[in-house]
Amino acid sequence: MKNKLLHHYAELDLDAVFEKFYDTMLSNADFSGFFKDTAQIKSLVVRQKQFLLDSILMTDEEIKTRYVALGEMHHQINVPYVDYMAGMNILEQGLILAVVSHQESMEMLETTFHFFKIIRAYTAKGYLNKMLEADIEDIDRYLTHVQRASEIDTLLATERIIWLKNVVFAIKVGNRAAAPALHMPPDIVDSIKSATSGDNALASYAVDMSARMEMNARNVFYFLDKGSFEEALPLYRELMSIYKLTLMLTNVVTIASTNLLMQNLTKDTLTGLLTRHSFTSILSRELSIATAGQYQLSFIMIDIDFFKNVNDVYGHMAGDLVLAKVAQTAAATMRATDYAFRQGGEEFLLVLKGASLVITCAQAEIMRQKIESLEFEFDGKKFNVTASFGVAVFSAPFDLTYEAMLDVVDKKLYAAKETGRNRVVS
Ligand code: GH3
Ligand code: MG
Ligand code: MG
Repeated sequence: MKNKLLHHYAELDLDAVFEKFYDTMLSNADFSGFFKDTAQIKSLVVRQKQFLLDSILMTDEEIKTRYVALGEMHHQINVPYVDYMAGMNILEQGLILAVVSHQESMEMLETTFHFFKIIRAYTAKGYLNKMLEADIEDIDRYLTHVQRASEIDTLLATERIIWLKNVVFAIKVGNRAAAPALHMPPDIVDSIKSATSGDNALASYAVDMSARMEMNARNVFYFLDKGSFEEALPLYRELMSIYKLTLMLTNVVTIASTNLLMQNLTKDTLTGLLTRHSFTSILSRELSIATAGQYQLSFIMIDIDFFKNVNDVYGHMAGDLVLAKVAQTAAATMRATDYAFRQGGEEFLLVLKGASLVITCAQAEIMRQKIESLEFEFDGKKFNVTASFGVAVFSAPFDLTYEAMLDVVDKKLYAAKETGRNRVVS
């Protein structure tokens, strides 16, 4: 049967079919870039013709292996799937035309249609294989990265990403039973609801997106079960796009809840700095992130020198203004991710993330100079203030208690006072 078919095909002018195929491809700007020169095309015509004739004698299993590999190869050399399929259509039309004009039987026509249908499906499977591999790699990279952070919000993303990993795995091995339940588990729905509470638009967006993911996953599996890889492939792509949006959404939720947290933290009304009461909760969160991220936390303790004098000479109101100005000057010199607390009357604590001792001391020195050059005027009298700085840098495993950490930096500040004030001691 197959031999008979081969005989029929061999009778057709396949060279003309392939030459016409390349003519069409070359006349299209989208495709012509894939080819180098006429010599390359000549050799492609010979090879493709042989490839086609060889394929006719093959078993279905051999055809599968061969065209899956062809799809994988085209993905690897970055030929877009749609372009590859457009090329297939052109080739199929050429062959059908050759079959018809050679007045071949109806059976021959059907066989040709069928042949193209299966090779399309298997090349699509080849493309899908390569996409799955790349996505599994992406997911693993993401998971490794996320595992290093310990914020509660990332749990949501992690759970969904693990779900995706299982879906990808099930597609890869072609076993639907290996896929997790496709709908979003109720506890995750709940956590999305609570994270987005107060923002109805965000909440309904999240719910809508999870419904779309479920529907897409179902569609993908439906076509996979039928072996229609060419239908499954674009749907799988859509599923991944939605996933990328989910990650963005998770970030939006994280940012929203962090903002809320920051707003709820009590701020000192005079200086605008965080109060000492928020120190413990912020520090416990920062310590766990710094432990996971393997970076240092620096403490800078600042105390205004002879501040009692300012009150005594210029009055309490003047003292308040000086306090606020000094606090804001110090805080403005930090990065947005650092924290500034008002520890006591005229004493401030700064917590810097990921700065070395050298950098922290340099930061403190800049602050010292900026404070020193601030100019104040009350009752026509001009004056300046100075401040002393204690610096301490802590690294993982952060085994000191909060009190012990504060004690270390306090002692440095004390040394700065003892050795003449208006200086940085580490
Ligand atoms: P040193 O260089 O040793 O730090 O001397 P100092 O005078 O700055 O230190 P001391 O601790 O003796 O005095 C701190 C003063 O800060 C005493 C207090 O009245 C004043 N103070 C604390 N909180 C406030 C405030 O909110 N407003 C004003 N105006 N003064 C304050
Ligand atoms: Mg003081
Ligand atoms: Mg003091």
